[in-house]
Amino acid sequence: MKYDYDLLVIGAGSGGVRAARMSAQKGAKVAVIESRYLGGTCVNVGCVPKKLFVYASEFAHAFRDSVGYGYTVDEIPRFDWVTLRDNKTQEIQRLNGVYQRMLENAGVDIITGEGEFVSPHEVKVGSEVYSAENILIATGSWPVKAKIPGHEHTLTSNEFFYMETFPKDVIVVGGGYIAVEFAGILNGLGANTHLVYRGEPVLRGFDQAVRHFVSGELKQSGIHLHYHCTIERIEKLDSGRLQVFFNDGEQMEVDEVINATGRKALVEPLNLAAAGVEVAHHGNLDVNEHYQTNVSHIYAIGDVIGRVQLTPVALAEGMYLSEFLFGNAPKKVNYDLIPTAVFCQPNIGTVGVTEEQAIEAYDAVDVYESQFRPMKNTLSGSAERMYMKLLVDASTDRVIGCHMVGQDAGEIIQGIGVAMNAGATKADFDRTIGIHPTAAEEFVTMR
Ligand code: NDP
Repeated sequence: MKYDYDLLVIGAGSGGVRAARMSAQKGAKVAVIESRYLGGTCVNVGCVPKKLFVYASEFAHAFRDSVGYGYTVDEIPRFDWVTLRDNKTQEIQRLNGVYQRMLENAGVDIITGEGEFVSPHEVKVGSEVYSAENILIATGSWPVKAKIPGHEHTLTSNEFFYMETFPKDVIVVGGGYIAVEFAGILNGLGANTHLVYRGEPVLRGFDQAVRHFVSGELKQSGIHLHYHCTIERIEKLDSGRLQVFFNDGEQMEVDEVINATGRKALVEPLNLAAAGVEVAHHGNLDVNEHYQTNVSHIYAIGDVIGRVQLTPVALAEGMYLSEFLFGNAPKKVNYDLIPTAVFCQPNIGTVGVTEEQAIEAYDAVDVYESQFRPMKNTLSGSAERMYMKLLVDASTDRVIGCHMVGQDAGEIIQGIGVAMNAGATKADFDRTIGIHPTAAEEFVTMR
């Protein structure tokens, strides 16, 4: 049977675009279907705009810190949300164009609209039906809200980036990546920021010491932390503000409530039943080592499989798949030592196991820890501190976990990730000469 395409990709996010582009470059006939925006969550309502907003909020710290370095900030610097929001949107539109040209130059057909399976080899977009020998589901994930009364008055990360006005008082709900990053942005930009989390402390799954340290830093930066706290209902007032009622009987009036309560695989619009693709009980698509779903010519990568919801992981999965389908040297994605950063303020950088996981998995673990005031803050007077930890398997001397909280942690941990992927031992760290004066040198001087 002849198909329209060798590969039909549903979803032009990080993973889908990479798989489409690389497959086309290998000579495959490829189309990508996208209903919203090229570049997916990361480019449009995720990593990219978030990082731009983090930069924006860091200026507030810089203005304050500059006084100790001799600057006179005569006027209180004023922040204009609309300028930031619209400049960010312009940059994203530029990136949308870059993605479009990248796909077109690779010879990928871009089909605009929502894709829906009509059979295992056919996807309908509007009134057109496209057939393909292989189909890739790369539809990503979508934010979920806790369905409390009044939830329709709240925002998710999708709307946060396009708010009409900047809130004076705001609640961020959740204790994960997005919650701490958004709380840092809002606080830095001048909102009276409350973080409401049902547990304690933030960032479940991270190293315990990191969690406690970050919690302390968030608090000292001015964010109001409400632990073991949930919202029961929300009412919209005539003023447009929101009256928020908590489980402990307390109430608060704010301008916005932003949900950062997780994301779920985006599969509903796909009519998977028509293709016979099964959705796992947790809502994600289960795949094997080659990213095949239960229907062997239908693949899935990225957030929709829910393994590790990170852009670089989706890119790696996309590259594997194009090589698996149309190349000859697929290299398995290494899920073991994935460096990651959380862009709260200060940032977290982490790679490898937590201390708790290390103690479970290894007979003997050496722990090296350091906590200090970064040099920059000696003159600025900022109370922000840094935390660093190395975890070493005592029997092999290999570094199995590295954690950092502090400015530029995301930048620093990338290099450590390379070293750890290469199997670096503590002795390798020790014989590396430090770069002075930096914070990163601490990693090679811990004894
Ligand atoms: P997370 O799963 O990280 O966090 C969700 C948070 O919401 C948790 O603290 C969870 O609490 C809480 N929560 C869940 N359901 C409810 C509920 N019904 N009521 C109250 N609280 C609730 O999701 P995020 O949305 O923060 O991020 C999604 C993923 O996106 C991340 O896991 C990460 O992989 C990726 N991401 C990566 C970034 C980066 O690399 N810098 C930045 C942003 C996102 P509990 O802990 O109790 O379960």
